[in-house]
Amino acid sequence: MRYGVISDVHSNLEALEVVLEALKAEKVDRLLCVGDLVGYGADPGPCLALIRKEVHHTVCGNHDWALTGKLSLEWFNEWARAGLEWTKRHLAASDAAYLNSLSLTWQDSQVTLAHGSVHEPEKFHYVMNLQEARRSLAVQATPVAFIGHTHVPGVFVQEGDRIGFERPQRLTISPLARHLVNVGSVGQPRDGDPRASYCLYDSDSGQLEFRRLTYPVARAQEKIRKAGLPEFLADRLSSGY
Ligand code: ZN
Repeated sequence: MRYGVISDVHSNLEALEVVLEALKAEKVDRLLCVGDLVGYGADPGPCLALIRKEVHHTVCGNHDWALTGKLSLEWFNEWARAGLEWTKRHLAASDAAYLNSLSLTWQDSQVTLAHGSVHEPEKFHYVMNLQEARRSLAVQATPVAFIGHTHVPGVFVQEGDRIGFERPQRLTISPLARHLVNVGSVGQPRDGDPRASYCLYDSDSGQLEFRRLTYPVARAQEKIRKAGLPEFLADRLSSGY
């Protein structure tokens, strides 16, 4: 099975279109998304329409969860909150119902999906260190799990009791190890590389690959400014932080 995995689209239509186009050309069998479809960007409606049409399985991110009223806006910093308040005013009822229908985790025989972590997915932990990764890997039932949330791509690998963190471009999944893979962000990367991030995984060959693509950043920024969203949300797209 060949999987394409995306995360943290955050209403960035320009980035999403470029990534979905590339994934179409790759002819993946299953297209997956680990949440945060909306918030920050200016195109929630068009992004949700594309995701609903193209993506096979999507789990709920903290921004999506907040828009359904299941997570308080108090949880968020001022920019995220401004983005969520704006999104709430521009969200169609059918899109709100769709977000409300998303589950926090999903799995098949090969992969698990969660936005923040596989353990306590409703708490949206940020897996940024080995202790947090260990807690998530401990409840992971498949060889590979995909997460997002930090907007920083990388892989936590556990073999026996040892856990390490790597940021490879390609990796062969070992059947003896467990892997917690952060796919990075399509719509708002925060690792200093402004290009949209996503993953390809072939569960037959065990090949995992991280991909980055340039997209029309200036167009996405202009839409954010025109919408009256905070200036910082436009600026950060070109720095990748
Ligand atoms: Zn996010």
